[in-house]
Amino acid sequence: MIKVGIPRALLYYQYYPAWKAFFESLGAEVYVSPPTTQNILVSGSSRVVADTCLPAKVFIGHVLSLIGKCDYIFIPVIRSLKSKTYNCSKFLGLPDMTRAVVPESPPILEIEIDINRGKRKLYQEIYKLGRHFTGNPLKVKRAAMAAWQAHLNYQEMMSRQGLTPPQAIERISGITDTRPEFHSSPTTPPRATIGLIGHAYLLYDEHINYQLVKRLEQTDNRVLTPEMIATPQLEATIARLVGKAYWTYEEEVVGAGGYYLQDKADGIIGVMAFGCGPDSLMMDIVHRQGNRQKTTPFMCLTLEEHTSEAGMITRLEAFLDMIYRKKRRQVEVCV
Ligand code: SF4
Repeated sequence: MIKVGIPRALLYYQYYPAWKAFFESLGAEVYVSPPTTQNILVSGSSRVVADTCLPAKVFIGHVLSLIGKCDYIFIPVIRSLKSKTYNCSKFLGLPDMTRAVVPESPPILEIEIDINRGKRKLYQEIYKLGRHFTGNPLKVKRAAMAAWQAHLNYQEMMSRQGLTPPQAIERISGITDTRPEFHSSPTTPPRATIGLIGHAYLLYDEHINYQLVKRLEQTDNRVLTPEMIATPQLEATIARLVGKAYWTYEEEVVGAGGYYLQDKADGIIGVMAFGCGPDSLMMDIVHRQGNRQKTTPFMCLTLEEHTSEAGMITRLEAFLDMIYRKKRRQVEVCV
């Protein structure tokens, strides 16, 4: 059986159930790299220039960890998912970058998704990918439909049941990211509701964000994430704040940030990678909107290879203390 390796990085958190359904429908076995470790991060960093963003370094580390464990590595190029919205350049060149810096990588399976080039081109790309496994176009079509259904189920599971991507993936396929030292046990009612905004590969990679979600939950806060908001609401928020999205994953930052600013959370934490151009623009829009409204505190955490855990915890504690004080004052005024 052909084994397809999937790096647990970048778009894994958005599309893993769909990819798994597609390859398994075609009779392949899917193998996911382990959760990020310091070794994975260091090995990835050693292959690329220093100013490459942290998520791309992590991605290369995951590719390295898959060598010898699979026949192919799947690296899609997601260029555009909606008319005239575009992805960051790192995603566009991911297979080429991987070949250049990891020449010993297993052969790369790629597919280019660009909605602006029309449905015909999209179908051609899907059949081109499927041809590695079967010569029967009907089987490829069935696999594509299974992938689409798996993706819809995954999104609905997260928005309806309030699950994060790792929690939903664990329910779907049993793959877990959970480390033993933290246990989520939010009290009822929670001390505060915190809206986390940012790309999934920053919010859910526990190694690079020092278990941010679990830290917040462990201190009895309720955590809201972008996936818990339905797509129409995210799109409506973007339309209200910026008119039309320009970046492919703008919903995760501007959409979710603007939505949680509408009195849906006691505080918002934006998580971004150092040196990320798209995020610095998008995070600024949310920050400015927060400043205009003056109701919901906002903090931006910037992650990079050398981000210190102690520094991050200190900022987090100060932010949470400020929110708890604000909530106590509100209760006192009401009494
Ligand atoms: S959007 Fe930013 S963090 Fe994500 S891959 Fe591009 S440069 Fe890196």
